[in-house]
Amino acid sequence: MSKTDLSFRDRPINLDEYGSRKWVYAKRPKGKWYTRRTIFSWFVLLFFIAVPFIRINGNPFVLLDVAGRKFIIFGAIFWAHDTLILALLMLSFVLFIVLFTVTFGRLWCGWACPQTIFLEMVFRKVEYLIEGDYRKRHKLDNAPWSLEKILKKVTKHSLFILISVAITNTFLMWFIGSEKWLALISEPISSYSTGFIVMLGVSGFFYWVYSWFREQICTMVCPYGRMQGVLLDSKSIVVSYDYKRGEPRGAKTTGDCIDCRQCISVCPTGIDIRNGTQLECINCTACIDQCSSVMKATGKEPGLIRFDSEQGIQHGHQSIWNPRNRAYSLVLLVLLSFFVYTLVSRPIIETTILRTPGLLYQENEDQTISNVYNLKIVNKTHENLPLEIRLLSHEGEIQMAGNLMEIEDQAMFESAFILYIHGDLLSSDKTEVEFGIFSNNELIETYKNSFVSP
Ligand code: SF4
Ligand code: SF4
Repeated sequence: MSKTDLSFRDRPINLDEYGSRKWVYAKRPKGKWYTRRTIFSWFVLLFFIAVPFIRINGNPFVLLDVAGRKFIIFGAIFWAHDTLILALLMLSFVLFIVLFTVTFGRLWCGWACPQTIFLEMVFRKVEYLIEGDYRKRHKLDNAPWSLEKILKKVTKHSLFILISVAITNTFLMWFIGSEKWLALISEPISSYSTGFIVMLGVSGFFYWVYSWFREQICTMVCPYGRMQGVLLDSKSIVVSYDYKRGEPRGAKTTGDCIDCRQCISVCPTGIDIRNGTQLECINCTACIDQCSSVMKATGKEPGLIRFDSEQGIQHGHQSIWNPRNRAYSLVLLVLLSFFVYTLVSRPIIETTILRTPGLLYQENEDQTISNVYNLKIVNKTHENLPLEIRLLSHEGEIQMAGNLMEIEDQAMFESAFILYIHGDLLSSDKTEVEFGIFSNNELIETYKNSFVSP
C-alpha cells in the first residue's frame, strides 16, 4: 500500500498536509443534470424571494417572528406556547430529513440547500461571467496585479457584496415580514441603527462565506453533512461510480474509466468520486454530466457515474424501499397524524389567568372578598374575536374595564381584573375557581386557578 493510500482520509480533501487551504477551482458544469438543477434552483430562489410577499387572507404565508414568539408556517399560526405542536413539527421535519437521507443521500445539499443554491447558482455564475472558467480563474489568481485583474476583482467583489446585502434583507423579511421591512427602510437609518449594524454584520458574514469560505461550510461546518456516515448504507441511492464497469481504469485497459480526471475537475468540493461515497459529496451531479460527456466522446454508454446504490452496482438492481426506510416512514406517518390531530383540535385561543403577584385578598364592606388577577389571551385565529370572561364555579362578580374584549386576529390581549365572591360561599382559605371564556355566548375555553380568603 502506498503512502497516499495510507493517508487517504487523514484530512479533508481541500487541506494540504500542513493544514493550509487548497483552493478548489471547479470547472463549470454542463449537461442534462446541470440544466435540471439550474431550473430547479430558479424555483427555490423564487420561493425564497417571493414567500415574504405572499399573503393569505391578508396574513403572511410564512413569518418566523422570533421576537414576537409567533410563527406562521404555510398560513398556520403557532405561538411559542404551542410547545407540543412545534415539537411534533420539528420531530417530523427531522425524521423526514433522516428518511430522505437514508434513501437518497445528500440530495438536499446539492439541489435545495440555500448554501449550495446561492454559491453554485448565483455567486459562481457571477464569477464565471467576470473571471471565466476554472483555468482562467486559476491563471488570474496567480497573475501579478494589473489593471485588468484589479478591475475584475473589484467588479466581482462589489457584486458579491450587493448580492450578500440582498440575501440578508430577504432573510430579514422572513423574520419581520415584508411590510415591516418596507416601513423600516423608508425611515432614516438613525432610527434603527442597531438593526442596521446587525444587517451589515450578517451581510458581511454571507460575503465572507460565498467569496472565501465556500464549500468548507458543507465539508467542515454543516452538522447535517457530518451525519452522512451514520445515515447512509449500501441501499442508499447516491451519486456513485460504477467500479465494476470502470475498473481497471486507464487509457488502454478493459475498464470503461479512461482516467481522464474530468469528474474531479468539475467537483465543487474537489473530491474524486471514484474513491467511493465520501463526506464531501453533496450529490450535485456535476461529475455525472462530465463523465457522461466523456463516455459519449469515447463511444461508451453514459452512466459510469450515476445515481445508484452500492447494492445496485454490486448486483445490478436497486430499490428505493427497504426495511429501514419503511420503518422510518411508518414512524413519520404516526408523527404527522398526531401533529395534524393536535393542530386541528387545538383551542382557538390560549388563556392564562394568574393571581397578581404580591397581592393577597381584600375584605369588603358588603361581606365579599376580592382577589386581583392578571389575564392574558392569545387569539390564534385569522378573525377578530369578541370575548367575555365569566366565573363558572361560583356566584361572583368580575370587574374589568368593559368585561367584553375584542381581540384582533393573531393578537395578544393583556389586562387585569378583580373577582368578588361573597364570603359565605368560600369554604377554605384557598378555593379553586373556574373561569369560562365565551365568544358570542359560546364557551370556548375554561381556566382554573385559586381564590384566597381569610
Ligand atoms: S470522468 Fe469518467 S472516465 Fe474520466 S476519470 Fe472520471 S470516471 Fe473516469
Ligand atoms: S463527487 Fe460528484 S456529485 Fe459529489 S460533489 Fe463532487 S461533483 Fe458533485
